[in-house]
Amino acid sequence: MVFWLWYCLALLTTLNAHTGFHLPLLPSPEAHNFHHLKFTDNYGAMGFLDELHGTNKNFRNSEIYQRHFWSLSLAPLKQLYPDQQKKE
Ligand SMILES: [Zn+2]
Repeated sequence: MVFWLWYCLALLTTLNAHTGFHLPLLPSPEAHNFHHLKFTDNYGAMGFLDELHGTNKNFRNSEIYQRHFWSLSLAPLKQLYPDQQKKE
């Protein structure tokens, strides 16, 4: 039973991380999106080992990082925190 619970949670979190969308009421996929964008940051699933080893510095210094939180809003975060180039 524990295995199936873990398996379902792992599958759902993997799907959320690879959607490419920051869906409302779900955890932020921004760190994993940045991982696939650069391949130099955010190797871990939870983030604390990246914090410990400093492998999230580029991500933390990027403008994408300001959208990296668990949003309870239904408003798209790219509208609330647009990229710098698109603000004009
Ligand atoms: Zn991935």
